Amino acid sequence: MALKLFNTLTRSVQEFVPLDPHGKMVGLYCCGPTVYDFAHIGNWRTFVFADLVRRTLEFSGYVVRHVMNVTDVEDKIIKRVRENKTTLREFTGKFETAFLDDLKALGCREPHQKPRASEHIPEIIALIEKLVARGMAYQAHDGSVYFSIEKYRGCGCHYGQLLKLNLDEMRAGERVASDEYEKESIADFALWKARVPDDGEVFWPSPFGEGRPGWHIECSAMSIKALGETFDLHLGGEDLKFPHHEDEIAQSEGATGKPFVKFWLHGAHLLVEGKKMSKSLGNYFTLRDLLAKGFTGREVRFLLLSSHYRETFNFTLDGLHGAKTALARIDECVGKLRDVAGNATAGPDSKLVEQFSAALADDLNVSAAWAAVFEWVRETNKSIADISLSASDAAAALAAWEKVDAVLGISAKAEAEVPAEISALADDRAAAKKARDFKRSDAIRDELKAKGWVIEDTPKGIKLKKI
Ligand SMILES: [Zn+2]
Repeated sequence: MALKLFNTLTRSVQEFVPLDPHGKMVGLYCCGPTVYDFAHIGNWRTFVFADLVRRTLEFSGYVVRHVMNVTDVEDKIIKRVRENKTTLREFTGKFETAFLDDLKALGCREPHQKPRASEHIPEIIALIEKLVARGMAYQAHDGSVYFSIEKYRGCGCHYGQLLKLNLDEMRAGERVASDEYEKESIADFALWKARVPDDGEVFWPSPFGEGRPGWHIECSAMSIKALGETFDLHLGGEDLKFPHHEDEIAQSEGATGKPFVKFWLHGAHLLVEGKKMSKSLGNYFTLRDLLAKGFTGREVRFLLLSSHYRETFNFTLDGLHGAKTALARIDECVGKLRDVAGNATAGPDSKLVEQFSAALADDLNVSAAWAAVFEWVRETNKSIADISLSASDAAAALAAWEKVDAVLGISAKAEAEVPAEISALADDRAAAKKARDFKRSDAIRDELKAKGWVIEDTPKGIKLKKI
């Protein structure tokens, strides 16, 4: 089934056709973390969304090259390096490792390439030199090199591809040095920032003098190096549309004269408990904050995947409790299927897979995809209860679930391993029951419960289950 995605460039849902003439290889770039702090839950929504896009493409049969940069040179980082009296590498390394650990905890597939800006300074300089040679960049009196929007537009290039900008209000000659700025200040932006005392030891030599790259040019240089001058998909949170992505397009197309990216996909914002996340409101969460509250990465992933990527999502702690319950239903159903299937094997049952893929092909309609999953859980539970499911039916249902889970990435839990202390208690209980010492057997049952385990009597004997 043809995969359709909403392309920010055309503001429409379009069939995804890769650039590869064989229709197989797909290049995907997602703007990665700026490693100056732990990523918050709003950031994670974008990375889980990128993982969903990648997994959906792989599910559809494409071979994806997934690139995610690590922004380790940028205004906020340099400020923190200065405040913490440390080195760039030491400071960013800590947050980069934490980011990758969190990415794993959320069940995201690791990108194939994770280029660091600090390791691509020659490529960045070469790209700036190209822009200078083409007359689209100039060195100002402050020593920094800026991108000229006027010259770029003068060459027939389009600035404002991702959103409508009122370029008539642009004042000629205005410049902005900082990496982040508002739409109201469309202005020439810095490609290379001349060294200033506040930069400390963070600077590199260049033909334009000592300095450091601007944030936007880093992504252009790294994505072009990894995926070529034109590639298939570029992802990010919607807050990056302007100026970051618009500037990436301008720099890249200005330097190469070719279209930069075929499909731009943007994930929507996230609210927490109905409000914009902020530290002062107490609704600001990193993944670590949520893990410390006893939730798991899997539950957070489930919740982040429960709404469509283009809708603003209200993330709540109640929602996380709901995720726990929903996942338990899936785990229980898959666990029972495993019991019934035993050693039987079979190809995947087609109904769930077909409904699920049709939902995803429709611009990643996760609501319909989850509806198909929970309908399948309901029907499967019913068949198991009716004892109408054969071992090979169960194996076919399991194979279908595995196909679907290759996209969802929530991996129904295998039976929890039973610690020796718990199985010893269960043996004691069995012995007490046999000796008709019900008082003792009930006491052991309560003790097990307090330790987080329940005993279920099944036709095959007793079974220990983690609560
Ligand atoms: Zn970027």
